[in-house]
Amino acid sequence: LTSSKPNRRGHWVLAGGVLAFASIAAAWWIRPARPNVVIIVLDTLRPDHLGCYGYERDTSPNIDALAAEGVVFELAESVSPWTAPAMISLMTSLHPEAHGVYRFPNPGRLNDNATTLAEVLKARGYATAAFTEGGYAKPEFGLDQGIDVFPRNEGDDDSHMSNLEHGSRIRANVDRALAWLGEQSGPCFMLFHTYEVHAPLLAPDEHVQLFRPGWSAEAEDAELQAEFERFKESGEITREGVQLTSDHLHHCNPERPPKYQFEASARGLLPESDELTQQFVRDQYDGEIHFMDRELARLFEVFGDDTIVVIVSDHGEAIGEHGVFGHGSSYHTEQLGVALIIRAPGVAPQRVSGLVRSIDVMPTVLDLAGALPDEFLIQGKTLGPRMRGEDLDARPSYSHGRSLDGYETKMRSMRVGQWRYIHDAEKGAQLFDLEEDPGETRDVSAEHPREVEMLHRLLESQVDVDARIRELASGAVAREDLSPEILEDLQRLGYVGDDE
Ligand SMILES: [Zn+2]
Repeated sequence: LTSSKPNRRGHWVLAGGVLAFASIAAAWWIRPARPNVVIIVLDTLRPDHLGCYGYERDTSPNIDALAAEGVVFELAESVSPWTAPAMISLMTSLHPEAHGVYRFPNPGRLNDNATTLAEVLKARGYATAAFTEGGYAKPEFGLDQGIDVFPRNEGDDDSHMSNLEHGSRIRANVDRALAWLGEQSGPCFMLFHTYEVHAPLLAPDEHVQLFRPGWSAEAEDAELQAEFERFKESGEITREGVQLTSDHLHHCNPERPPKYQFEASARGLLPESDELTQQFVRDQYDGEIHFMDRELARLFEVFGDDTIVVIVSDHGEAIGEHGVFGHGSSYHTEQLGVALIIRAPGVAPQRVSGLVRSIDVMPTVLDLAGALPDEFLIQGKTLGPRMRGEDLDARPSYSHGRSLDGYETKMRSMRVGQWRYIHDAEKGAQLFDLEEDPGETRDVSAEHPREVEMLHRLLESQVDVDARIRELASGAVAREDLSPEILEDLQRLGYVGDDE
């Protein structure tokens, strides 16, 4: 804590390994000089729907094959259950309130002073490109920081819903990515993102049929139209019809449900069963994963042995758990859990069982690429030691959702060991014992006041640390302006956040 200097781009460099940091061990395996780096973000992908995470359906043969040659992190969590903050955290290793991109619906822009993964690699001579599907993964929120080539798609300014109007984009983006990769002669970094498994779920029939035999979009439409006609003529609404419209709304997700659905609600008519709806959505979702997996295989084919490949989701998806379909709304495992698979040259295939966080991705990739700066302002830690079989201290996984414009976030989650603590400024505290109750169905906060108190203190420390890091990263406060007491405080809080 005795010296600090802005690096050549004016980024904050904190000496002494203060908040997070990176004491970098010597290279621990033979790796190519400047390996290519590819990060593939599969938006809204639940790990438990992939074969390599134990799913009983054969949804993901190509991802599974890559996973068999890499490291599968069995328990990984995102910093946030929605896209904008989660993507920026992957690229900066900062929590949402530290990097500042977390407001809904207008997230704002990452401050130039924050350092992105792409910037670190670009400074080492990498060519950089990003191929995303717009919405909350478009360039403007800061994903373009350090990226040379970031083409836009028609509909990028709409939400992910633009798939409804513009169709699936994964095929075109894979083509573009392949073309760009084919032009590179030196080391390159590519960020690839797809909304394919994000609602609306519109996979080609043959992929859905693997999991829902006999289903077709055309037949579903015809049935719906027949039901709507009957309704128009006779005013009749059937339970089968309500089930059909409910299923349709869940996978097509149009902005306004049809009159039929309004009328059904007005009459108090519900779908036949929640389980039927959930199964329908699972079938559509699995069809999308299968389709996406086949498209991704075209990318996997060109990655050489000298390429570090990361497959990660930005957040998960609820399919009926806790009464929810979708994401962004709660802090349970179905929304925060992410897939994380890393295949890297010279790293033996294995499965890692301990809890890791999406903020660990950036330092891990830089460590694997031999490009981790000695000191820089990040909150994750490299998973390199875990990938060589070392046990590390368990680290808490902290998540923060979204703040509506003009309001501060009310909900946060802190996961430590067997406990998930969720704090909601309005509804109070909830505690779940993940060992006894992995589905997080029973709040046990009343039975464990000591754990609640400890987790709440940890959570408040994290909020404090994030606010201070944000001041530093934004340049609003210069390090020289901070008193030694505050710096010590930061260090203490940082270590609390990381090690206890
Ligand atoms: Zn997302």
